[in-house]
Amino acid sequence: MRNLMKRSMGLFGKKPQIYSKPILILMGAPGVGKGTYGKRLSKDWSMPIFSTGEYLRTLLKTDKTDLGNELRALVKAGKLVGDDVIMKIMEKRLFTDEDKKAKGIILDGFPRTVGQAELLDKLGKVQAVMNFFLRDDILIEKLAGRRECEKCHIPYNVATIIRDGYDMEPLMPKKDPGHCDACNGKLIQREDDTEKVIKDRLIEYKQKTAPLEGYYKKKGVYIEFEPKKGVKDYPEIKQKLEDYIKTKQKK
Ligand code: AMP
Repeated sequence: MRNLMKRSMGLFGKKPQIYSKPILILMGAPGVGKGTYGKRLSKDWSMPIFSTGEYLRTLLKTDKTDLGNELRALVKAGKLVGDDVIMKIMEKRLFTDEDKKAKGIILDGFPRTVGQAELLDKLGKVQAVMNFFLRDDILIEKLAGRRECEKCHIPYNVATIIRDGYDMEPLMPKKDPGHCDACNGKLIQREDDTEKVIKDRLIEYKQKTAPLEGYYKKKGVYIEFEPKKGVKDYPEIKQKLEDYIKTKQKK
C-alpha cells in the first residue's frame, strides 16, 4: 500500500495524464451481477476489466500497515473507502503500461460516489454506463448465495431464485461443486457477504452510489437493465451495449 501511495503521489504532482480510450462503466448495487457480466464482456471483447473491490481485497490480504488495517476494516464492514485512496488506485491502473494495446477498459465497482465520477471525468472519457438494478430481497438472496474462486475470483452462486418473474438458476462449477472449473481453486464466501454487512452495503449504495444514476443520465451516457434471469441475460446485455456504443459512434 505504501508503495502504491508513493508511486501515485508522483503522478498527482505532475501534469494530469489523460486516458484516451473508451471507458465503460458497469454500475449497480452489490450482488446485481456486474462482476459476472463484466468478466464475460471482457473475454468476448478482449478488453481489460478492473474491479476496485477485487483489487482491494487482494492488496489488503498481505498489507499489515496502519493504512492497510484501516482499509481492511472498512471493506469488511461494507463501508466505502475514501475517494483519495480509490482515485490513486484508479490513476495507477488507467495509466499502466501493461494495457497499451487495449481498446479501452471496463470498470466494475468504480465510480461509487459522485466525487469519484467527477474526478474520473478529468482523467478520461466515459463512453457508456450500464446500470443494473434488482429488487432488494432478490439482491440479498443472491449475495448470500454468492461464492467465488479463491485463486482466480471467477464468480459462482448457489442460490435458486425462481418466482415473481425472476428465473435465476444456481451458477455452479460443472466438475466439482467445491472447486473452480477454470483453475481448481477452492470456492469461498466473501467476508462481506454476511447478512448484516449485506444490509449495510445496500444502505451505503443507496446513499452514496445511487446518485450517480442522475449524474450519468445528465451526461447522456446512461442505459439500464434489470437482469431477471441471471447469466441467461448475458447475450441481451452484450447486444444492448454493443448497439448503444455503435449508435453513439455514429453521432
Ligand atoms: P465490491 O467487490 O465492488 O463489492 O467492493 C468491495 C468493497 O471494496 C466495498 O464494499 C468497499 O469497501 C470497497 N470499494 C470497492 N470499490 C470502491 C470504490 N469505488 N469506492 C470506495 N470503496 C470501494
